[in-house]
Amino acid sequence: MRLWKRIASKKRVASGIRQDPMTSVHKSLTAPMPGRADLTPECIHCGLCLQACPTYVELGKEADSPRGRIYLMRAQQRGVIPVSRSFVQHISACLDCRGCESACPSGVPYGELVEKAREVIEHNARRPFLVRVFRNFVFGRVFPSHRLLRLSFDLLRLYQASGLQMLVRALGILKLIPGHLSELEQLLPDIRQKRHHVELGSVHPAEGERKHRVALLTGCVMNEIFGDINQATIRVLQRNGCDVIVPAAQGCCAALHCHAGIIDTAREMARKNILALEDAEVEAIISNASGCGAKLREYGTLFEHDPQFAARAKAFSAKVKDIASFLDELPRIARPGELKLRVAYDDPCHLLHAMKVSKSPRNLLRSIPGLELVELATPERCCGSAGIYNITHYELSMRILQRKIDDIRTANADVLATGNPGCMMHIAYGLRREGLTHTRVMHPVELLDQAYRSRL
Ligand code: SF4
Ligand code: SF4
Repeated sequence: MRLWKRIASKKRVASGIRQDPMTSVHKSLTAPMPGRADLTPECIHCGLCLQACPTYVELGKEADSPRGRIYLMRAQQRGVIPVSRSFVQHISACLDCRGCESACPSGVPYGELVEKAREVIEHNARRPFLVRVFRNFVFGRVFPSHRLLRLSFDLLRLYQASGLQMLVRALGILKLIPGHLSELEQLLPDIRQKRHHVELGSVHPAEGERKHRVALLTGCVMNEIFGDINQATIRVLQRNGCDVIVPAAQGCCAALHCHAGIIDTAREMARKNILALEDAEVEAIISNASGCGAKLREYGTLFEHDPQFAARAKAFSAKVKDIASFLDELPRIARPGELKLRVAYDDPCHLLHAMKVSKSPRNLLRSIPGLELVELATPERCCGSAGIYNITHYELSMRILQRKIDDIRTANADVLATGNPGCMMHIAYGLRREGLTHTRVMHPVELLDQAYRSRL
């Protein structure tokens, strides 16, 4: 029997992944997406990516490895296997962390492949009615709308600030509901006091001589949950001679939509960002959330077959910079004050594996006098957050998180620095769960901002 058949026929029970309501399908279709070229010619099946893959390391199954998933994708594209329940589960269990891309000697664009496979699933698999309604509402209504997104976070703030959260936890109400709702509720960061979002449409002049003009994309979750990080980003840019504009018409970057295969909505949202920035006359578009930054840099791929937007999307992506790279590439950055802290840095997957940025955040942290930078044993390994993976695949996500927390425990740092809001929330949850409350989770730009403020 050929390898793909063996892979496709493995029972899920053996892999330890439970069926998940967010990704379950009602029926299998045999028709592959029409008109698709072979997307996987580069894979030479060498297997060098296997140990870089968190799901393979946890589950030990070929079908949950990059190579195995590529076999499945190829078989599906050629119409040899259907978009079956098993196909959906193996593709959905991928974190889209892209650790395999860094390990691959053949340059297989795995992230692009898995997102295309998820688009195939989105078009061919029928999900349960309630899951469809929920997904349509969240992806189609909430994320594209600032108003609904803010309302959602205001409701969450009210839930926490009113004491309802305490009551729900004390009574253990969520434990009565099947699934992991009780654990998922614990993932929520405390946002009672956080109302520091950056106003869209605002302009922030450089301190002293103006040397650069940049735009900040605030992110959707970042601005609502970690608005103080956006504020810190603006202060740091101002301190380094940047006028910072925050375009009013910007929206969510659509990374979550692409990871979920909801590509048509993703394109609509990306178009909005391209139009919002097109006439801004800035030398760089700054992102401080690496999951967003990586997607913003890939708008070119998203529009490669759109004659109207292909060139405009490429021009947009070429200007996108992660805050750490932008600052590190300046001829000189303003001198920070002293911070006596032991800091461990964890590479966010999309910053490292998609944007290929690893030195810049470390350089910035090392530039702070008094700060001791320590390396984790495996900073390149995903923490298990991966967008909404910790919701859709809670148990596996927690197994992956546990390795990260053990790594952080060994580093015994005052601060764990990382540059992506999802990772920050997920790791903070893991630290709370393990009682490692002496280690705070911070964005590198927050530390730099704190160091600048310590000189005031
Ligand atoms: S993206 Fe991450 S989880 Fe998915 S196959 Fe690659 S290494 Fe494994
Ligand atoms: S490392 Fe690259 S070429 Fe080798 S099996 Fe993995 S994806 Fe294929």
